[in-house]
Amino acid sequence: MTTQSLPSTTRSEALFARAKAVTPGGVNSPVRAFKSVGGTPRFIREAHGAYLTDVDGNRLLDYIGSWGPMILGHDHLAVREAVAAALTRGTSFGAPSEGEVRLAETVTRLTGVDRVRFVNSGTEATMSALRLARGFTGRKYIVKFRGNYHGHADGLLVEAGSGLMTNTEGTLGQAAPSSAGVPEEYARLTLVSEYNDPAALDVLLAERGHEIAAVIFEPVVGNAGVLIPTPEFLAALHRVRDRGALLIVDEVMTGFRLSLRGATGLLGLTPDLTCWGKIIGGGLPVGAYGGRADVMDFVSPQGPVYQAGTLSGNPLAMAAGLATLEVLEGDPGIYTRLEAYTAELAAGLKAAAQRAGVPLSVNQIGSMLTAFHQDAPEGAIRTYTDAARSDTRAFAAWFQQMLAQGVCWAPSQFESIFVSAAHTGAELNATLDAAHTAYAYLG
Ligand code: PLP
Repeated sequence: MTTQSLPSTTRSEALFARAKAVTPGGVNSPVRAFKSVGGTPRFIREAHGAYLTDVDGNRLLDYIGSWGPMILGHDHLAVREAVAAALTRGTSFGAPSEGEVRLAETVTRLTGVDRVRFVNSGTEATMSALRLARGFTGRKYIVKFRGNYHGHADGLLVEAGSGLMTNTEGTLGQAAPSSAGVPEEYARLTLVSEYNDPAALDVLLAERGHEIAAVIFEPVVGNAGVLIPTPEFLAALHRVRDRGALLIVDEVMTGFRLSLRGATGLLGLTPDLTCWGKIIGGGLPVGAYGGRADVMDFVSPQGPVYQAGTLSGNPLAMAAGLATLEVLEGDPGIYTRLEAYTAELAAGLKAAAQRAGVPLSVNQIGSMLTAFHQDAPEGAIRTYTDAARSDTRAFAAWFQQMLAQGVCWAPSQFESIFVSAAHTGAELNATLDAAHTAYAYLG
């Protein structure tokens, strides 16, 4: 089997060269640089429905979905019209406006939290929720899980996933920062445990529980590739409250994606605080955190925990988020359709890989999926360590084969892909045809 003939990337290459001269690595977020898969990142000119068009005119079937927000597909008419209408009224007020109230009413109604505060990114949401947890409990330490990513606040860049996922070995409890520039003193306040290991969490809580302000976790991990929690692990997480710590669910990726109530609804979680991002802004920069009134009322100006933002509650962003949630709520079959497409994609990928003799283990839930290039039994990849056994070279070769055929997968083995409502049977067939060719090339 021969390599696909490569589409032209002349203009992307030229823009990448210009970008590298003026921006670190040529990108504004590391994974966009294609470092782990090689080649030139495509510079995108426009995006509609399930497709991106790059500056060389290549049309790409998109499985990145802007890393999660675009659940309705790109340039959805209702979202575009809502933003256009908001635009006629001004771009930022720095004062309260009705859009913030309407989005907050919608989020609280859909998710069951009492209060929500809007910020501008998922990073701000988790950072603020942790400060709140520390302020509320009067304790210093937090717990996170190896390979979970919660944004790039200093204390969370410890054994983090996503673009930071490496093969570092750490010990449970105290662990090293994942980034230069994070002082050890900050990292020391972050205790790390293994995802899907209830016994390890119980030990940590027994030893340090009285010092812990909060345990933060991805309810379904996307940032080590997709990892699905076991019921035993979820039960252990809920025991953190017996120690007086708060349970913070990071739904930045899973919120409004796995169901209208996110993973919390799907998995029956009862967190104290929830963080959102991505879909909640409909493709514009929005993050949020929310929870019980007694905890949230610790936030300023109501309470003593300070948190603010010049552009928080921006009217264009509120309009995009509200329009997105309204479309999701108005289409009761949408999550079933997303799940059906993604389950068929998972089955088709496994069958194509098997025919070609390529080892592959697929984790999929709702419209999130990672195809790990390794020979693990179905459902056996449950931890960061399991995911890290994948053959990243095989993945990179497969990724390039898919891209050459016009299918844009997430450019890292350790990321989820995202299916949107704009992906139809035609896109599924085209993806599986391309995958068949790509696995045959590897096999
Ligand atoms: N939390 C999770 C689970 C995420 O996946 C991400 C980003 O991918 C973040 C937090 C950080 O969000 P943002 O990139 O908007 O700062």
